[in-house]
Amino acid sequence: MKSASTNQKTKFIFVTGGVLSSLGKGLAAAAIGALLESRGLTVTFQKLDPYINVDPGTMNPFQHGEVYVTDDGAETDLDMGHYERYTNAVMAQKNNYTSGRIYYSVITKERRGEYLGGTVQVIPHITDEIKRAVRQLEGSVDVAIIEIGGTVGDIEGLPFIEAIRQLRGDLGRENSLFIHLTLVPYIKTAGEVKTKPTQHSVRELRADGIQPDILVCRTEAPLTDDLKRKIGLFCSLNTDAVITAIGVESIYDVPLHLHAEGLDTKILELLNIWTGQPNIKPWQDLAHRIKNPADTVVIAMPGKYVDLTESYKSLHESLVHGGLANNVKVEIRYINAEDLENKNTAASLLDGCHGILVPGGFGERGVEGKIRAITYAREHSIPFFGICLGMQLAVVEYARNVAKLDKANSTELDSITPHPVIYLIKEWFDYRRNIMQVRDETSDMGGTLRLGAYPCALREDTLARTAYETDEISERHRHRFEFNNDYRAQLEEAGLTISGTSPDNNLVEIVEIQDHPWFLGCQFHPEFKSKPMRPHPLFRDFIAAALKKKHD
Ligand code: GLN
Repeated sequence: MKSASTNQKTKFIFVTGGVLSSLGKGLAAAAIGALLESRGLTVTFQKLDPYINVDPGTMNPFQHGEVYVTDDGAETDLDMGHYERYTNAVMAQKNNYTSGRIYYSVITKERRGEYLGGTVQVIPHITDEIKRAVRQLEGSVDVAIIEIGGTVGDIEGLPFIEAIRQLRGDLGRENSLFIHLTLVPYIKTAGEVKTKPTQHSVRELRADGIQPDILVCRTEAPLTDDLKRKIGLFCSLNTDAVITAIGVESIYDVPLHLHAEGLDTKILELLNIWTGQPNIKPWQDLAHRIKNPADTVVIAMPGKYVDLTESYKSLHESLVHGGLANNVKVEIRYINAEDLENKNTAASLLDGCHGILVPGGFGERGVEGKIRAITYAREHSIPFFGICLGMQLAVVEYARNVAKLDKANSTELDSITPHPVIYLIKEWFDYRRNIMQVRDETSDMGGTLRLGAYPCALREDTLARTAYETDEISERHRHRFEFNNDYRAQLEEAGLTISGTSPDNNLVEIVEIQDHPWFLGCQFHPEFKSKPMRPHPLFRDFIAAALKKKHD
């Protein structure tokens, strides 16, 4: 369906959050995108994060959650993952800005003398830079959904709020929309829901010059019409612009709930866009499949950040998608990798799982425990999936225990190992930039990362080739260390299959073991490309193998 907007201009939806963080602003934005796509419109997103870090690449996943990597190699906020999973939009560096990135570019211009000696100020220089960042998206899609990180009233968020206030004037009323997400809590002692935090949050927003057009209220139970009327009255909104967002069983129910509340209808009315009825059947089917699995499989996942599942957001979702492809529920058993270092506890912690997944990671903590889990999977014929560090450790495990290369290791974990099967490769051809990359121990830490999408050629008659059903793929990377080709012949002779390499055959991308139900490690992060509607083939086949294992 072609969009029939009044003109070809991109319209902007600005999503802000009030009261407190973690209300699910990213999910709400993603769900709005999904609903607009279901009406045949094209969408894109942008997340404006108020913190000073230039990007989340160097931020601790404990604090910030997962670093999401895009095709163009940007290290971005995990909300980019929601956007890509819910829609067809492809995220890139231009879809995620932090205050740090904005200031960095203003300061760079100032140093170059571009402001001609003028005083450089938050208004207009920082706000102009923000507006430029937002307006880059103009012309590419029908609707751009801009999410402002943080909560209204935060000091560091003010320049963003001011910039979007100005943008309403620049873009015009029919081309811009303010959606504010708030909380309407149920207070047990009073036995009722309270609208006061929402009133205050809207007042705060108005003090910054923004009158929201639509309120999305997070609640435990649907708001009655009376309550909606009351909130509308205080916030100068019609009742149909007050939308309830109740807690849902599955995050993939969010688009359906918001649709039932009339959110997409209201958005289109206010933006003066005409479309036909939405096709939400794929979301209904998805919701049905999520709620009616035929079976359950247990996947053990030894990791470092086991206390914070936000750190493994995309991985978690990809496993859910793999389950959907097989009509099963995936129960993830997060295990602190350090607890696996003792052989006896390891066996009891892994007992009863139908698959083991070792995720990516940096540094030595828990590594020997992860290696023990890999040995367990290999020896007990339990389906194994190793991702990035997980693949590197599968190579180390195989080198040590099958090829008998004593003390084999990655130089990241043991710089004086006698058998550096994983190391910093000196030279590699960078397909994205079409140049030879040279790196060594003295290279800049961040600069040596291989980031973003790279091509990978698949070998015939392998698990990888069976899964992907094609001979060349593209997947996203975020790592420094690589498989050491000096050990390639030896490891292959010992039975390791190299099923995927860079097209020039220099970089090993996928390893497998035959004589095992399903054992595969990949250097890239397939979890950044899985969607509920299109489960990633490796996750699909891994879960299928786990299901088979369960019934063997
Ligand atoms: N630490 C490893 C490397 O830098 C793996 C990184 C990862 O798992 N993302 O190569």
